[in-house]
Amino acid sequence: MTRKTPDILITNDDGVHAEGLLALKNALSRVGNVHVVAPDRQRSASGHSITLHEPLRVNRARMHDGSPAFSSSGTPSDCVTLSLLELFRKKIDLVVTGINPGQNLGIDVTYSGTVSAAMEAAIIGVPGVAVSVASNGEEPLYEAAAEFAVFLARLVLVKKLPKDTILNVNVPNLPLCKIEGVEITSQGTRRYAGRVERRKDPQGREYFWLGGDVAVDKLEDGTDVKAIAENCISVTPLHLDLTGYEALAKVNTWGIDGFDPSGK
Ligand code: MN
Repeated sequence: MTRKTPDILITNDDGVHAEGLLALKNALSRVGNVHVVAPDRQRSASGHSITLHEPLRVNRARMHDGSPAFSSSGTPSDCVTLSLLELFRKKIDLVVTGINPGQNLGIDVTYSGTVSAAMEAAIIGVPGVAVSVASNGEEPLYEAAAEFAVFLARLVLVKKLPKDTILNVNVPNLPLCKIEGVEITSQGTRRYAGRVERRKDPQGREYFWLGGDVAVDKLEDGTDVKAIAENCISVTPLHLDLTGYEALAKVNTWGIDGFDPSGK
């Protein structure tokens, strides 16, 4: 029996012209037919936002090296929805997002358009993998992440993924030969210090700038944060169910069910 050549959709949150997207496309072309549908502009930290109150446009676009792709006026999640439900209906076997220049570790995943786009794939029922380079403001090196994306894509195409689950991949910003290994990790804790800067514009009016590349990392064993700190590739399975199961029983003891809807 001959296997069908896999069809892979890629998108990102950095826009269709991003170098990381091109690196991903070139690498995954060794695995299957790669279809590119990415936002027409920078959409980093757009989280899982979707476009409901304006038209969504899809246009022919050029990638970083001039090769053809599609761009959309929508968010990363919109790109996945448009592609899987309309543009390439029933055709896509795998969605890979990235390669994001900047880590998506710990709580970053809730802000990340890269991770959210992979989640959108899982919601629709297609395996989703998000790939980021932990470059933390330095010049991103995409080679190791691209090579690992090829390795992982081949595996996921065979193994599939559990329902409502994506793989969040972070790769150290190192040459391939300097990577120490691969760890399967849990989502770590990673908080930002000094998130808001108060500034003055040239007219003397106050404005605010959200920042936060100063991360306070707790290096707990087995976490994504620790794996990256140890120069290992981190692969974290993330589930769409955000229920705090440990809190379920505790909150249940508060007497919340004592609320009387009849108003007495
Ligand atoms: Mn980004």
